[in-house]
Amino acid sequence: MATHQERKLVEGRKHQNMQNDINVSQGQWGRAWEVDWFSLASILFLLIFAPLIVYYFIMSCAQYQCSLTDPLLDLLTGSKHLSDIWNRTPMLTYRAAVIYFLWVTFQVVLYVFIPDFCHKFLPGYVGGVQEGAVTPAGVVNKYEINGLQAWIITHVLWFANASCFHFFSPTIIFDNWIPLLWCANILGYAVSTFAMIKGYFFPTNAKDCKFTGNFFYDYMMGIEFNPRIGKWFDFKLFFNGRPGIVAWTLINLSFAAKQQELYSEVTNSMILVNVLQGIYVLDFFWNEAWYLKTIDICHDHFGWYLGWGDCVWLPYLYTLQGLYLVYHPVQLCTAHAIGVLILGLLGYYIFRTTNHQKDLFRRTNGSCRIWGKKPEYIECSYMSVDGTKYYSKLMTSGFWGWARHFNYTGDLMGSLAYCLACGFEHILPYFYIVYMTILLTHRCIRDEHRCSSKYGKEWKRYTAAVPHRLLPGIF
Ligand code: NDP
Repeated sequence: MATHQERKLVEGRKHQNMQNDINVSQGQWGRAWEVDWFSLASILFLLIFAPLIVYYFIMSCAQYQCSLTDPLLDLLTGSKHLSDIWNRTPMLTYRAAVIYFLWVTFQVVLYVFIPDFCHKFLPGYVGGVQEGAVTPAGVVNKYEINGLQAWIITHVLWFANASCFHFFSPTIIFDNWIPLLWCANILGYAVSTFAMIKGYFFPTNAKDCKFTGNFFYDYMMGIEFNPRIGKWFDFKLFFNGRPGIVAWTLINLSFAAKQQELYSEVTNSMILVNVLQGIYVLDFFWNEAWYLKTIDICHDHFGWYLGWGDCVWLPYLYTLQGLYLVYHPVQLCTAHAIGVLILGLLGYYIFRTTNHQKDLFRRTNGSCRIWGKKPEYIECSYMSVDGTKYYSKLMTSGFWGWARHFNYTGDLMGSLAYCLACGFEHILPYFYIVYMTILLTHRCIRDEHRCSSKYGKEWKRYTAAVPHRLLPGIF
């Protein structure tokens, strides 16, 4: 229903364009065409250091009980050499390679070969074939939305194995954590390199490719907008939304199983982390169709940033709290646990409601009610590469009237809750909130820069109407 309505809207706007015949210059609203020195330096930094950061965090837990400072102190005081640390690091194993291969293959099979059936019996769930947003080249891609189904099947099999079949131990992920890290890296680099080569030699849609001429920038930020193999295997949707995110909840369950094995109990902090992050992951899959309209899918090209990031960064660093709790089984007092739960749920409520308000507003083209009232908005327009003029609206009421990215604020509250669940003994579990603050603040600025190029003076009117980015009255 929503898809049909959107298609009509796009067609309507194109038709309007033909009639208006307005000669406006083509907007540069996709990924950057020119690379400044700061961007290049940041990219080189990330390409070199991001894999080391992941290794450092995981190694710190495995060898130093999650202390981030002890390895550095050991190295600086000379009591250990890099080679000592490296020699104690588990290498790639045949077992891990088989586990990882089976895992990714299984997710490919679920993604490509099993059309969605959840939307047929789950009221309110939008699945099956859905359309994405208009790309800068004016293309509207179709996606098979079956992530919820993949998540459910995977978890049913996981629990069936844990309770009945016992083919493998539920601690399998924890037990192979570092060997699996090497597998994830191999896939992350392979897919990013393949995406780059594909962008040059056989792009899915040449008009949606961007070449800055800078090898590192193109490798990192990607050339192709929506690389695909065949009609349905979409790299961005698969890597963003399958091996890493489906694994997220399994990884946490494996950490909980390890706690049970080691200490004969699962702490309330581990349960909180599992529940709060489980809600976040399940929300992602329940709203996968909405996800097609987010920045990842609508604006980012597919390169190392998404390819390696989804394979390595996400499953390894987003799950640090659970990993930490295996080494430090924190039992929170009731007040602390309730405080974390309230913060997590409130953050989730703000995150979901804000995203939902925009989604509803955009889907109905403003013909809806937000907090019981007709939404307020600013009319705006932009051009695609082929010169077609499109019309859009920026909402200025509901949570979108409080701040320009209040959804990020809710996300940050939830992220803080996961960290607070781990107590205050170590800094490592707090990496997530530091990272998310940097990521979302940078994302906010990046998005606003893009929107400013896209909408021009109408964006200025919008920022005047909603002056703050994340925190009303502060930032
Ligand atoms: P948004 O969902 O906020 O989308 C931003 C886009 O929305 C803009 O580019 C613009 O697109 C449109 N827009 C902006 N202002 C308005 C408005 N007032 N009214 C209507 N449309 C507007 O951003 P993201 O895609 O980055 O994030 C989606 C969610 O995912 C967020 O809640 C975020 O917290 C979460 N997230 C989580 C991450 C994680 O790692 N856990 C990483 C990234 C995001 P247009 O061009 O269509 O106008």
